[in-house]
Amino acid sequence: MKKNFKQFWKLGKKEFNTDQFDINADGELIIREGNYQYNVYDLARKFGHSIKILMPFVLEQRLAKLTDIFSGSIKQAGYKGRFTYHFPMKVNQNKEVVLPLIAEGAHLEATSANELWVVKKMWEGENFHAKIRVLCNGPKTSQYLNLIQHLEGKDLTITPIIESPEEAELLKDFKGERGVRLNLDLKVNSHWDKKIDRFGLSEEEILSLGKMRNLKVLHYHMGCQMTVENDIIAALREAFKTYVKVRRQNPSLDTIDIGGGMAVNFEKKELYRTESVVKRIVTTLKDLSDRAGIPHPNIITEWGSYIAAPSQMTVFKIVGSKNIAKGVAQKWYIIDGSFMTDLLDTWSIHQKWHVIPVNHMDAKKKERVWLTGLTCDSDDKYADADGHVLLPRLEDMAHGEDMYIAVLDTGAYQDAFAMHHCLISSPAKIVLQNGLVTVARKRESPEEIGKLFGW
Ligand SMILES: *Cc1c(COP(=O)(O)O)cnc(C)c1O
Repeated sequence: MKKNFKQFWKLGKKEFNTDQFDINADGELIIREGNYQYNVYDLARKFGHSIKILMPFVLEQRLAKLTDIFSGSIKQAGYKGRFTYHFPMKVNQNKEVVLPLIAEGAHLEATSANELWVVKKMWEGENFHAKIRVLCNGPKTSQYLNLIQHLEGKDLTITPIIESPEEAELLKDFKGERGVRLNLDLKVNSHWDKKIDRFGLSEEEILSLGKMRNLKVLHYHMGCQMTVENDIIAALREAFKTYVKVRRQNPSLDTIDIGGGMAVNFEKKELYRTESVVKRIVTTLKDLSDRAGIPHPNIITEWGSYIAAPSQMTVFKIVGSKNIAKGVAQKWYIIDGSFMTDLLDTWSIHQKWHVIPVNHMDAKKKERVWLTGLTCDSDDKYADADGHVLLPRLEDMAHGEDMYIAVLDTGAYQDAFAMHHCLISSPAKIVLQNGLVTVARKRESPEEIGKLFGW
């Protein structure tokens, strides 16, 4: 019986990143970390709602697994280049996320002066090794440039990525290593790959920059959530053509950085396997560089969501319901939080999530519902791809018992996107690690929010 419910809610499956989840005998959601376990229903009642539950052990496991897969493929193919993982900080800048990833061997990618300021803070706190390399993307404002210069002087490997001819000029006297960003003329299946965008330089523009001092990295980034495996390989093949030409002018070039975009299985449907993608990246690069007669490039990936999204869930209490007269769903369930303020991608890109109950997971009768938040905005709502969400019925709850739901895979982007429409408080954040539960952030108080608006 329990097994059927586990299957129904798509838990306990590696390919869905739900292998750490289970259901206990009382029909409650359980998180497993090795032999430790946490009861989400208890956590929600103890720490209040809404809460974000971060699982750093998931980050560590995912990065360790990815590194293993790359080493395996590199060994098997007899590939001579190295693999390095850079965590794109914009995906999740929280201390509780960045530090465990660094401990697990991640290097970093920053997009702004303020993200690089976080790096400076970590460096000053001696939280990390000077061997860490930080790639710096994004427009190089004077504040950003000053920080790049400052930190490079401190023996960190700070590698600015040149995105325009002006930046090439501004960085002319920079002593450290540098990279250049290629704007590939190729369209892939990703919401973010626009026909025309402002990132990077065309091949011609890069070649016209001539010889660049200490050029090490050719970088490109197609967009997030690339769900077609062939797109990832097609982009690599296209970029390699430029790599060969740029290397002729700059023999120091030894690394290709394929950016982010490895997809997350948000909807728990068919998706490519990481092993397959990685193997194809390595064998494609081996094949192409052998044919071009150049050394195998080092490989960098900046797969952010892929590593971070499954490491967090957001738990809401259902605080009310309303009948729907005409619709594919029967009821509105109102959450104690908001899709607009807490999970902004629901609104901005119509992100689909895997929503599951936290208690009564073994309910036989379920209801088709639409979820809605506390703001007064008609866009503050959620339904999955079938046009509704299936959840237990409120009338089946025992007297005085509340219903909680969990939205899975919320560890990428949503924290930094949080906003204050209708002055809704951001959820509290708790961290599960080594069997211990710690509160990283309390739920925002009215005073804290009021202050942001001058009250
Ligand atoms: C956003 C971004 C990433 C991360 O993308 P994901 O889809 O989260 O993997 C990596 N590199 C660059 C340059 C980016 O802009």
